[in-house]
Amino acid sequence: MHRTKIVSTIGPVSDSEEVMAALMKAGADVFRFNMKHGDVAWHEERIKRAQKVADELGRAIGILIDLQGPEIRIETLDKEPMQLEKDEEVILATDFVEGKKTIRVADEGVINALSVGDEVLIDDGFMEFDVIGEAESGLRMRARANYTVTHRKGMNLPGIKLDLASLIDDDLKKLDMASREHVDFVALSFVRDAEDIRILREEMKRRSIDAHVVAKVENAAALENIDEIIESSDSIMIARGDLGIEVPYEELAYWQKKLIYKCRRAEKPVITATQMLQSMVDSPRPTRAEVTDVANAVFDGSDAVMLSGETAQGKYPAGAVAAMRRIVEFNEDKVILPPLSDLGTLDQTEAITHAAMNLVSQNTDYDIAGIVVFTETGNTARALSRFRPGVPLIALTQDEKVRDELMLAYGVSPILTEFPEGDIISVDPVIEHLKEQGVVKTGQRLLFVHGHRWSEPGLTNTLALKEVK
Ligand code: PEP
Repeated sequence: MHRTKIVSTIGPVSDSEEVMAALMKAGADVFRFNMKHGDVAWHEERIKRAQKVADELGRAIGILIDLQGPEIRIETLDKEPMQLEKDEEVILATDFVEGKKTIRVADEGVINALSVGDEVLIDDGFMEFDVIGEAESGLRMRARANYTVTHRKGMNLPGIKLDLASLIDDDLKKLDMASREHVDFVALSFVRDAEDIRILREEMKRRSIDAHVVAKVENAAALENIDEIIESSDSIMIARGDLGIEVPYEELAYWQKKLIYKCRRAEKPVITATQMLQSMVDSPRPTRAEVTDVANAVFDGSDAVMLSGETAQGKYPAGAVAAMRRIVEFNEDKVILPPLSDLGTLDQTEAITHAAMNLVSQNTDYDIAGIVVFTETGNTARALSRFRPGVPLIALTQDEKVRDELMLAYGVSPILTEFPEGDIISVDPVIEHLKEQGVVKTGQRLLFVHGHRWSEPGLTNTLALKEVK
């Protein structure tokens, strides 16, 4: 039963059945497939593989695909790394220029938005260039140091307004793939406003993709429009890699705390991402600063923490997940979160879940060992999860998709089960079932949260305290 969830990115070092199994056993809950690298066939094959491994282990795994959207990615000639020396000139263009070192970008809008004197950053800001003039078919830039520029790295232009499409052609191909496969989450990079989310949802609907939308917050525009973005999406990712370049990096911790609180209020799961255990790409042990960063993400109230290069291309993919699991498990017991204030008018489900949380946290005499929720859509489970209860939250659902979507929500252990028809007369058969599964023990008290019928969504109206006999 995981409280803080772990999102693990699948890449060349982790795409075998063996490593996928090792990641799941070490504590990964969601696999992320980064669509900015690899073609449709590569991802489709691996998504199937992940599902097969999860089935064989008899457990759930959430599948998240991460689309490029209005993010700038660069290309190098023949996808080969390109060496540049300090002060060397390089062309930035939409086509490779014969005989000249060129960095290609697909969108003309990038070239048009830049002027002499602007700063261009590549690979999470590790490479810095100055625009020094125009070239025949693009711009001339000068490298500020010696760099090895590699294919498909990200480019950032902080402070420069770009008019880029919400989805690129490649995203649409990846969505076609998602319509054939079991995908639980579709993440969109560089979301700027609710309109980007609306366009994504429209394309998903066109393809009958029933998945949750994750908005990646990674630039100043997203921060400006954060409330409408949270409202229009199902989850948020604090994509600190790009966010730390697009806004001054000293602001990162502040935004992380602010966004997590807003997401908890809105009942939307929130992922804290990037460079959490970065040194474990090469080293078997994390740095003290990384351990503290992961712990602080737990103290801030993250639903999930994410590994990128650590599990996609590092030397210790399962070791990184195991280290993250160790850190979150120790610290989540110590967390005292600020109470959620200004909750506004509560709907029926919210009122019941609020009362459930009061019962668990304020009436310790009852010694409640866990909350059991019957959920058709996952909403009741998320409404409870936002309070980050210190006890397990067992979510029973009939829907495999709902089970997998709940893999991202803090503290929720989703279990797939069949509900009978009609009214809920007694929850005793459920207690029996959970006992047989070894989930609960005789003598424990459980708090049940449910509606009056077994399989109708939106009708949560009951709280029942039960002892396991
Ligand atoms: C990030 O920038 O933190 C991030 C998660 O995005 P990317 O897809 O570029 O890794």
